[in-house]
Amino acid sequence: MSALSELHKQIAVCQRCELAKYRTNAVPGEGPEDAEIMFIGEAPGWHEDQQGRPFVGPAGKFLDELLATINLKREQVFIANVIKDRPPQNRDPLPAEILACRPWLEQQIELIRPRMIVTLGRYSMAMYFPGKSISKIHGTAQKRDGVIYYAMYHPAAALHQQSLRRSIEEDMLKIPSLLAEARNIVESEPPPQQLNMFEV
Ligand code: URA
Repeated sequence: MSALSELHKQIAVCQRCELAKYRTNAVPGEGPEDAEIMFIGEAPGWHEDQQGRPFVGPAGKFLDELLATINLKREQVFIANVIKDRPPQNRDPLPAEILACRPWLEQQIELIRPRMIVTLGRYSMAMYFPGKSISKIHGTAQKRDGVIYYAMYHPAAALHQQSLRRSIEEDMLKIPSLLAEARNIVESEPPPQQLNMFEV
């Protein structure tokens, strides 16, 4: 079993916070283990909790449509959430829950090593763009340690609000050129120094 599957098995039985009491299924996330892009949402909703899969309700259908506009299928990207269990009545995640869950996301990122991390909504944005406002920074990217971080509105928020919908559609269209740039960062990095095994 891969390290990522092993990690997801641990997430499925996690008891680090109270949300474990309410879940039907934990929702670790899904996608290729070598995905170049990782999308990070907020928390599972009812559909996700039922199926144990991320973004499978109306917001997920919209995310699939957005991905299709840049010729991507969900199977080509990794989709995760800040919180792995559904909060009761879909309430906002609490700071203690975010803190308890954070190591899971960090381990996922460490194993997948995406070139680009796309935050969907305020909660994942706050992790990578602390202190920023989503209305100001959506559609903008930051390069850090060879990874491009990119903030977008949450598809659930954008689904029924025309101006946000236009923004999220436009922001999605910027991803291919950013991804090309992200690939370039990696390729232009100096290769690791060759070790000469016979040198004394
Ligand atoms: N909203 C999220 O943030 N994540 C999901 O998985 C579904 C809806």
